Amino acid sequence: MISINSTPKTIIPVTELEQSAFCQTEGNLRTKTLEQEFQSGVRWQKVPTRYLKMTPEQVEAGIRYARKEIGTKAVVLGHHYQRDDVIQFADFRGDSYLLSKEAAAAKEAKWIIFCGVHFMAETADLLSDDDQNVILPNMAAGCSMADMAATDDVEDAWDDLMDVLGEGSDGMAEIIPITYMNSTASIKSLCGRNGGLVCTSSNADAAYDWALERGERILFLPDQHLGRNTGLAKGIPADDMVVWNPFKPMGGLKESEIRDSKVILWQGHCSVHTRFTVRQIEDARRDDPDVNVVVHPECVREVVDAADYYGSTEFIRKTVEGAPAGSSWGIGTEINMVNRLRDDNPDKRIFCLDPVVCPCATMYRIHPAYVLWVLEGIMAGVGINVVQVDSETKRHALVALERMLEVGG
Ligand code: SF4
Repeated sequence: MISINSTPKTIIPVTELEQSAFCQTEGNLRTKTLEQEFQSGVRWQKVPTRYLKMTPEQVEAGIRYARKEIGTKAVVLGHHYQRDDVIQFADFRGDSYLLSKEAAAAKEAKWIIFCGVHFMAETADLLSDDDQNVILPNMAAGCSMADMAATDDVEDAWDDLMDVLGEGSDGMAEIIPITYMNSTASIKSLCGRNGGLVCTSSNADAAYDWALERGERILFLPDQHLGRNTGLAKGIPADDMVVWNPFKPMGGLKESEIRDSKVILWQGHCSVHTRFTVRQIEDARRDDPDVNVVVHPECVREVVDAADYYGSTEFIRKTVEGAPAGSSWGIGTEINMVNRLRDDNPDKRIFCLDPVVCPCATMYRIHPAYVLWVLEGIMAGVGINVVQVDSETKRHALVALERMLEVGG
């Protein structure tokens, strides 16, 4: 097999400005030709010119043909936040961890095409067999949150924290690193090497328990909001949680603030979930006093406090799907997922709390034409955009993932 565009050299970091590139004032998420979508102002991975002008119908027909030809040698995974024109081809839909487990279980598939973002493809590579190849259709589909915890910055921060705190004694570490699944493999590896673990938004609570049984405090990466919301839910006072700013010496913190803290939150966030506001919730309740509000824990603390429920993508899906007919739901998560929930549950009133239609700009870069490109590569015996984590990083990252499985949740 010939493999081109393997990681890491083709990763394209996502900027905050690019996150709003696909925001729209009306619900028009219809797929256009790749050439038209290239005009959005974000960076896309270069693709052979013949894919640029193909109509959505031509692309769809091409994907159907390729999938038939390749058969069970390829499995297509689709994250809930993918656009409909991509998700229709997914063999499995889910959140990032669920999909990685599907990838590991799909032993027959030599090719795992991950329609999600880069860290998800890395996780699938960590969990899949050596003879399976994980493909990310567009290498520009990163994640702005994961990019906010650059490896060098986190390594430097960890060294600074060790200098201030030391390694601990009597079997208790001074600090345990926890990284959210939405982080690069190298950050997962750093956690594995330093007595820490990975968590998802479903088991962050259990990960805190695990860490605080073994250490005095936690370094939580890279999403400060999930870290803070989890700490507050566990009864950790807000004042005991400090934010590490990677752009300032010593994270912008005094040594005493580090020593007095229970949780050190990395200054990262999700550009999609921080769009939700308390005002949007108040507006939804004014319009419909019976509305139920459910939001993702990557939202800011005030929004989580104001909501009726909060939880992971899978929690939101199950909560809304299990709700009685006729109920009304204002949802604080990615628009493609909300629209799909609305279409799949016509007996309920379902709407996105944010009136501006703003898909995750990195997920949105998985245009169907990229899916066709990588599928046609497979038919020609060429692995395009194969994501491979190096063996040393993999070894330690797997330790952090195994600890996550140990805590369950
Ligand atoms: S929704 Fe947020 S955390 Fe998820 S991929 Fe998009 S930017 Fe990253």
